[in-house]
Amino acid sequence: PDCWVLTTKLPLLDKNGKIIGTFGTSADITERRMFMDELQEMNRQLEQSIAQANTLAVEAEMANIAKSEFLANMSHEIRTPMNGVIGMTGLLLDTALDEEQRRYAEIIRSSGENLLTLINDILDFSKIEAGKLELESMNFDLLSMLDDFAATLAVRAQEKGLEFICAADPTVPALLQGDPGRLRQILTNLAGNAIKFTEKGEVAVHVRCQSKTEDEVELLFSVCDTGIGIPPDKIGLIFNKFTQADASTTRQYGGTGLGLAISKQLAELMNGDIGVKSETGKGSEFWFTAKVKLQPEGSLLKVPAPANLKGVRILIVDDNATNREILTVRMTSWGMRPVEAANGPAALDVMKEAYQSGDPFKIAVLDMHMPGMDGATLAQAIKDEDGLSGIPLVLLTSLGERGESRRFESIGFAGYLVKPLRHIDLFNVLSATLATHKPNRESGEDSETQQIVTRHSAREICHPAIDTRKRILLVEDNIINQQVAIGFLKKLGLKADATANGQEALDALSHIPYDLVLMDVQMPVMDGYEATRHIRDAHSNVLNHDIPVIAMTANALQGDRENCLHAGMNDYVSKPIDPQKLGEVLQSWMPAVDDGSIPETEPAAVVEQKTDPNEPPVYDKKVFLHRLMDDEELARSILEIYLNEAPKQIKELKACLEKGEMAGIELHSHTIKGSSANIGGEALRAAALAVEKCGKSGDLEGARAGLPEVERQFERLKPVLEREILQSA
Ligand code: ADP
Repeated sequence: PDCWVLTTKLPLLDKNGKIIGTFGTSADITERRMFMDELQEMNRQLEQSIAQANTLAVEAEMANIAKSEFLANMSHEIRTPMNGVIGMTGLLLDTALDEEQRRYAEIIRSSGENLLTLINDILDFSKIEAGKLELESMNFDLLSMLDDFAATLAVRAQEKGLEFICAADPTVPALLQGDPGRLRQILTNLAGNAIKFTEKGEVAVHVRCQSKTEDEVELLFSVCDTGIGIPPDKIGLIFNKFTQADASTTRQYGGTGLGLAISKQLAELMNGDIGVKSETGKGSEFWFTAKVKLQPEGSLLKVPAPANLKGVRILIVDDNATNREILTVRMTSWGMRPVEAANGPAALDVMKEAYQSGDPFKIAVLDMHMPGMDGATLAQAIKDEDGLSGIPLVLLTSLGERGESRRFESIGFAGYLVKPLRHIDLFNVLSATLATHKPNRESGEDSETQQIVTRHSAREICHPAIDTRKRILLVEDNIINQQVAIGFLKKLGLKADATANGQEALDALSHIPYDLVLMDVQMPVMDGYEATRHIRDAHSNVLNHDIPVIAMTANALQGDRENCLHAGMNDYVSKPIDPQKLGEVLQSWMPAVDDGSIPETEPAAVVEQKTDPNEPPVYDKKVFLHRLMDDEELARSILEIYLNEAPKQIKELKACLEKGEMAGIELHSHTIKGSSANIGGEALRAAALAVEKCGKSGDLEGARAGLPEVERQFERLKPVLEREILQSA
């Protein structure tokens, strides 16, 4: 300054802050000059240090940017090959493998998944250290997030023979705005630890509403286990990075010691806290809180209306009280009227009573595993009771019994679900069962002719599937990832053309009217962002500027999603691609419209079947695929074997008929009947059955007369199956 105007006395401080005099109007000229010189010197020093600090800050900032760019690239570079490993192993596992090969492939897959978790942990931690971890803010459904989480963790719990429970209080709001991925990450860390450190007993996850304002809710999550517990002297340390309660080299449990440190940081980012109570040898209870925004009123309307469930009286039969309670709470929230029974005999009593009182049950869910009378025996007893036989029954089974739908169907179940139940699946299966299995008490008929409702078929009944007639353009430079994506699309019944970069994609889009683009982000020549900007540019040659573009990116850093949306992309799947997620995204962008037309991919045989309902269908694709849990790959290889074997059997049968060998006639017609029934070749099965009957009764003439029909039906079936194989290839 050129001039100081002092109006009052000020203390004068030395560099250490000590008062060395006063500075003001009373000071004489020499004193003032001395102070001025001193001040100027201090000022100079200050400016110098600020300049230094600025340089350092700029350097630090640049280092940070470099670090986060390095992280983004690293993440991409690591995740891209991981996508290849995990995705390809998944596809490999869907092919026909022998026991040993399957086991090896499964180990590759689970090791790949473990490695990916580890990489993600390390990346997360570096991001937190670099101050680069930011939370997403997106609309999500807490209950379906919990469902997904529970489904994954329950598999691990089941492998160790642990009971796994996951429930949210009914007061917990479902439609929230925040970062579901990070919430799930904390939960997975805590529950994963709980399973890891528990040898017997249970792991229970609970969600409660701690406090609520108009636009925000504070949630309290807790994870209780009955495991080894944590010694008191270690409890204060475990939230530090790289710390484990047992750090010895002989420790029994693996891990990096990063999980809890990350969880703590994430909870704090959500304005929450984390903690633990534990007793050695008894178990631990980890908890964390998080503040999450509520979705604005407008978007709350998206909750599916409880269609036909409202007011429906439903019986829940399960010996486990916690499970009954969870079901009751959930069903009540859908407007149903649930009643609980703890075992088979009690269930029969309540059902009879309800029937007599004139307010009968419209549907019942039965747990399979109950001491005394199991679900199947109870179902049989219900089917044998006059007034009760028409009530549709839904079976709850554990993971082990997958694929037994045939057996459950023959016992008389109308639907079945595998535990742990996803809310949305339970909802869909109940709703679909009620829609398709009407109880018919008057005629005493039950719904034998109807197919059993599963999670998959329920979804189809309740929601539009993907429109498989749509044409997809896949833009991906990595050849392995191309194959993975094409494999997943094929599983969804979709076909795609592949191009290797943005430029090729633009060329393709200017000639062919595609319906959707699946776009990789980092590619040579032209990346996904730029390609999308060209697609959206009204002056480019692309035929449809509004075509949905779904990004596929291996970058894990926050902001990618925004970048994609900003570039004009509509949605986003992250690599390694999860086939289920991909399905969901595609379903929302290409829903099947029920316009009454038959999709091109529908085999001709089904059309024939529709024109003559009295004749058995040549090929019943639905029944066949249903039996194989919709595994089209498996279906194809079975059809190939069948087409190879059946002509040989028919030739053998013909020879026996000519020679009049009754035993051979019976054997070969039986084989043809069985294998045709297996693949849904209903008409040929019927023809072979007729020959078999004659063979059994010694009617050679009758058996001979039946041969032309067997041959005719095989000639009808063969082209249909060949087409089927071609289409699924
Ligand atoms: P990691 O599990 O990879 O070692 P974490 O940060 O997730 O790392 O956990 C740190 C340590 O805390 C674990 O090594 C373990 O000693 C202890 N711990 C965490 N959860 C539990 C639990 N549920 N029961 C007993 N010990 C636990």
